[in-house]
Amino acid sequence: MRELNRLGVTGAIDAGGGFQNYPEDYAVIEKLAADGQLTIRLGYNLFTQKPKGEKDDFLRWARSSKYQQGDDYFRHNGAGEMLVFSAADFEDFREPRPDMPPEMEPELEAVVRILVQNRWPWRLHATYDETISRSLDVFERVNQDMPLDGLHWFFDHAETISERSIDRIAALGGGIAVQHRMAYQGEYFVETLRSGCGRSYAAGRAHAGERRQALRRHRCDACRVLQSVGVRSPGWSRGARSGACASTRSATASTARQRCAYGPRTSPGSPMKRARRAGSRSASSPT
Ligand SMILES: [Zn+2]
Repeated sequence: MRELNRLGVTGAIDAGGGFQNYPEDYAVIEKLAADGQLTIRLGYNLFTQKPKGEKDDFLRWARSSKYQQGDDYFRHNGAGEMLVFSAADFEDFREPRPDMPPEMEPELEAVVRILVQNRWPWRLHATYDETISRSLDVFERVNQDMPLDGLHWFFDHAETISERSIDRIAALGGGIAVQHRMAYQGEYFVETLRSGCGRSYAAGRAHAGERRQALRRHRCDACRVLQSVGVRSPGWSRGARSGACASTRSATASTARQRCAYGPRTSPGSPMKRARRAGSRSASSPT
């Protein structure tokens, strides 16, 4: 907290993370909050840690805790960014895009119905449009008989989101939280697309072409999203490269803590990630 305060940060959203169980692992921060020792306002989202046990977690939490319980310094902020493991796509752009398993939709629907019933907002980790569009199928289905009706929810990341999905999110009243991953992994993203994700050379070239177009579209779509929430995009207007996008950095500056679902491999401070960042910086020099 001192370090965040030193940088002028006075509030953060805790999007959960790997191996952080509720309520056991929150005892320390709850004690600090009870003693009035927090110097950061902290909103925490509940992140399930149990593949195939997600529905039970959210049922139990809905009984034991209440949305917005707490005070101005320590407050329950809803669910996510993990709702079900079968809907969480892998976010390493040096790897091919993963396909989510067929059980994704029924598992996600079961959890989303619990959240809507209890009027809990949620955030959902989703990198690729293929995952986002399938999640939207679920949200739209739930909305038909359990209207979301102004409930706040959004996708985290959404790097390759399509125009069509943005329209569907807007129609449901949802949002997108763009992170600055492309500032560090943009070059890897392009390399992986160029490689065609292990396909034949010809198929790979075609695939890379499609994805380059998607990437260009993403830049426009992201600007649109950012503009819609009142964030300027100075980096792109100065012609910044995809791997060093100033606007995505500014959009996520207020999210002091964005942790992802896969533990040490992607945790913000891991040696592997620092090394990867260092390598990426030498290529793209984001500022
Ligand atoms: Zn994430």
